[in-house]
Amino acid sequence: MADRNAGFETITVHAGQEPDPATGAVVVPIHPASTFAQDGVGGLRAGFEYARSGNPTRAALEASLTALERGAAALAFASGLAASDALLRAVCRPGSHVVIPADAYGGTYRLFARVLAEWGVEHTAVDLSDPAAAAAAIRPGATALVWCETPTNPMLAIADIAALAAVAHQAGALLVVDNTFASPYLCQPLTLGADAVVHSTTKYLGGHSDVVGGAVVTAAAELAERVRFVQNAAGAVPGPFDAWLVLRGIRTLAVRMDRHCANAREIAALLAGHAAVSAVHYPGLASHPGHDVAAKQMRDFGGMVSFQVRAGAEAALAVCAATRLFTLAESLGGVESLIEHPARMTHASVAGSPLAVPDDLVRLSVGIEAADDLAADLEQALDAA
Ligand code: PLP
Repeated sequence: MADRNAGFETITVHAGQEPDPATGAVVVPIHPASTFAQDGVGGLRAGFEYARSGNPTRAALEASLTALERGAAALAFASGLAASDALLRAVCRPGSHVVIPADAYGGTYRLFARVLAEWGVEHTAVDLSDPAAAAAAIRPGATALVWCETPTNPMLAIADIAALAAVAHQAGALLVVDNTFASPYLCQPLTLGADAVVHSTTKYLGGHSDVVGGAVVTAAAELAERVRFVQNAAGAVPGPFDAWLVLRGIRTLAVRMDRHCANAREIAALLAGHAAVSAVHYPGLASHPGHDVAAKQMRDFGGMVSFQVRAGAEAALAVCAATRLFTLAESLGGVESLIEHPARMTHASVAGSPLAVPDDLVRLSVGIEAADDLAADLEQALDAA
């Protein structure tokens, strides 16, 4: 069993994933049972009663996530947005205000603007790479939380987590970090002062584009209990097979992330030197405005790269259509490389809003294939555009 001081790679393989005490199976079993026999009324054998409230496979995933993020507790959900929704319902009330990033993931923005707004939760979108802008947006007494993504989707902006935590805490607000793009291998926001982390486990944690899931990990047990109440009361839990797929992905998180980062670094360098590209957004480039903060709070710079095509939107769409190895698809964080056009695809829900993304932008999720093959594929697509 991995103790809390074990190295990250050891935690990925062992935390929550000890051999099954009943059989010795070295892989966590998938428990499909929806209900659990009781030894007399209330006599629960291992704390499990009904699978919406708790399931052993999901409990193993939650133990793993708690250790990976160095938190007090984790709750797993059926999707990243279900996780965000549960956390927000645990913390916000009608009249609450939240500060969100000016380039939040489109689905997160839609949750704030189209769902929570209807329930009286107001938001202000600001550039969170500037902690002073966050401080100015806070409404003392009303702001319940600052919601931060770093790196952001799709512009790869970097927020200084420790600085934002100080700003939020000074106003009595919580800092929540969507850590999906970095993964806990590259960044552990709770150790930098954040109160909660959310994940779309669909992405790097699952890592194989074969499951949709989400998680909340909290620094304090008390906040976790409030989220656990919503998890059970509203019920957006993952099924046991989905929980198991995420657990299996986690076992290789560290080695996958190393390759994602190495490949992305090469691709970003290629794009930065290509005449057809007018801008590259990748925090690993020394020219990126958030490079120093990223270097301070991340182990490496991640596998996501976005860039703008000099000839404009039609050319960007043509690049997306011309790659052969980079598959044209939404989502990210799987072993295979993906390409997409955020304005028309992942971020179509922010079109016309203050969060609209440039239409000449292309986003890459750089996979773990041979870097030379990926580079050759992009070059031929850029040449064809
Ligand atoms: N957060 C980020 C940064 C994302 O990119 C996504 C999905 O793309 C989500 C949250 C939502 O996760 P899910 O699609 O699992 O609901």
